[in-house]
Amino acid sequence: MPWCSSDWGRKGPCARAHLQRCLMGIGCPTVTTSDETTPSDGEPRKQGVYIRTFGCQMNEHDSQKLFKILEKDYVPVDDPRQADLVLINTCSVREKPEQKLYSMLGEMKGLRRERPGIMIGVCGCVAQQEGEKIIKAGRGVDFVFGTHNLSLVPSLIQLRKNGAPPQAAVSYREEWEDLPLGFAELDATKNGKAAHVTAFVSISRGCNKSCSYCIVPTTRGPEVSRSADEIEREVKLAVHRGSREIVLLGQTVNSYGLDLSPRMTFVQLLERVAAVPGVERIRFTSPHPQEIRQDFVDFVVSCPKVCHHIHMPLQSGSDRILRLMNRNYRRDRYLRIIDSLRSRVPDMAITTDIIVGFPGETDDDFRQTLEVMDIVQFDNSYSYAFSARPGTKAAAMDESLTQEGKLERLQELQARQEAITDGRLSAWVGRESEVLVDNHNRLRDGCLQGRIPQNFMANFDQPYEGLSLGSLAKVRITGRKRFTLIAEPVP
Ligand code: SF4
Repeated sequence: MPWCSSDWGRKGPCARAHLQRCLMGIGCPTVTTSDETTPSDGEPRKQGVYIRTFGCQMNEHDSQKLFKILEKDYVPVDDPRQADLVLINTCSVREKPEQKLYSMLGEMKGLRRERPGIMIGVCGCVAQQEGEKIIKAGRGVDFVFGTHNLSLVPSLIQLRKNGAPPQAAVSYREEWEDLPLGFAELDATKNGKAAHVTAFVSISRGCNKSCSYCIVPTTRGPEVSRSADEIEREVKLAVHRGSREIVLLGQTVNSYGLDLSPRMTFVQLLERVAAVPGVERIRFTSPHPQEIRQDFVDFVVSCPKVCHHIHMPLQSGSDRILRLMNRNYRRDRYLRIIDSLRSRVPDMAITTDIIVGFPGETDDDFRQTLEVMDIVQFDNSYSYAFSARPGTKAAAMDESLTQEGKLERLQELQARQEAITDGRLSAWVGRESEVLVDNHNRLRDGCLQGRIPQNFMANFDQPYEGLSLGSLAKVRITGRKRFTLIAEPVP
């Protein structure tokens, strides 16, 4: 039986130093390597890893990185019942995240009975926040690691295999945690499957804002920009692997570079990405209204590679509520930005996030949000009923509405949005646009689909000769379904 000869029950600096060495991946002199996964043909058998991802694109991206980090020893599987390792990548932005986690861990009990050797790890924002508590809850978790500690996973697995008790690694790192990149890097995309036309590239981590409802600054720490050289390198690799569209990710992408020395602006980064040969389209999410400057507007409207779609969170149309949310812009500023974009690009798609039922939100505040929706005509919005996140300022505020009251407002807002989206989609019928082909239509053999720059999905209703994934195709929109467009090629 392979075993680390260290005494795990031992307390004091010596044991801590040993654990730190292992966790840092420096290597444990007392660990002997397992040969249990080496079958008689000499080829190591790869085990199965299943990652369940909750939450935002940042978490999706972290899961991709985890597949990459683990690829030496693990292959992705679609079903936890085939897995030797299950990772739960948690989100603390939505409602009741801990409950969701613990109910999922409850489901894992049966799995443990079927597969006694299975290992279960918890990561993401809830892991960062709760750390050791998750282990102490006694739900059979083998290890916990935070949003800054992805690269420690192999060490955590090895420690556990060698008989160490469950560990939590949730320390913050001030520097950017760049993972080694190889040309195989971008094989891993969503769920660890084949290379994709769209590549997601992180440009920053954490957030320096302090919106009163948001837990992200606590779970992901202060904002750290990644070096532009590293970003450019990853973009080039993505293009080499067949990606044509780059989506830059950050909590507030447009404050990128302010912490770098020398300082850099988000627009300067966009210029560098746009200059990479083979990049056809650039998207980014999400810009913060407070940080939008004229150079950003000028670049977005004029660079042919930047898609004419901006996702800009509004959260509320009432200045009083924006103040309570500690969102450092006001409704007028938000509307002026929209105007500066749409006056130059009338078909600029704008999508947003809205919170309904924030503590203290009166009927009049809510009507003001509906009013902004009517003025802006958002192409789509992601709306939520407020739910307090423990540890945030908003959690200590008095809630003025019952849950039913919040849901009533949410339904009204979503019905309004549906009507607006309906009109925005219909307005495309009869127009021409360009589609980046990114997938096969699952319902019709030989047919393809992709997005127009404004991010609406267009389905190719008939087979297209000579088009493959990654091609840009000029199309005419001939019709629409509930949420998608129907297109035909323009010869
Ligand atoms: S800008 Fe506000 S809502 Fe967005 S991540 Fe930062 S604190 Fe959270």
